[in-house]
Amino acid sequence: MQQRRTLSSIDELTGLANRRYFASVLDREIDRVARSGESALLLMVDIDHFKKVNDTHGHAAGDEVIRTVAQRLLQCVRPMDTVARYGGEEFAVVLPDCPSYFASIVTERIRSAVESQPVLVGGGTQVACTISIGGAFAPGWIRSSSALWIERADLQLYSAKTQGRNRAVIEHTP
Ligand code: GH3
Ligand code: MG
Ligand code: MG
Repeated sequence: MQQRRTLSSIDELTGLANRRYFASVLDREIDRVARSGESALLLMVDIDHFKKVNDTHGHAAGDEVIRTVAQRLLQCVRPMDTVARYGGEEFAVVLPDCPSYFASIVTERIRSAVESQPVLVGGGTQVACTISIGGAFAPGWIRSSSALWIERADLQLYSAKTQGRNRAVIEHTP
């Protein structure tokens, strides 16, 4: 039973939390934030020009890039944070109890961890890779929905893409 629950919460390719588990973490976090007034940060992360990686190096190399980015994301966050594979080459990161000054620190850490080293794929080929990040805080004391929270972070991700990629944009919170 325990094992079944564990398997159904893990993404097979990366070993990260899957989208279903991410959804449950996000719901729990919204409850906690509304009760405690603490702020929490949600990041949506998308690999830049990933189609080109598949087209140039093949699907297996693409998978390797996804796996490596997943590991680098994990290495950049605290044990209490949740890194999930949200979809194909998209990830979501939930950072509970995250002060606002920390947003730019953690996003820059993540962004540069991915950019700083090419990914080694089959045959010794090195693949350069960058990510774009969108972030939004769940404001304390206000009841919100996980769908709205994701939408707000996604909007910032879109903005990071249109501003040129390989950057993070965090929603301005008053
Ligand atoms: P952008 O910078 O705008 O994000 O460009 P992009 O090329 O990354 O655009 P898009 O998000 O549309 O492309 C994602 C591609 O990821 C399309 C799909 O073929 C590929 N993909 C999705 N899931 C997987 C996967 O599990 N493995 C591999 N190798 N490729 C995947
Ligand atoms: Mg995408
Ligand atoms: Mg992409």
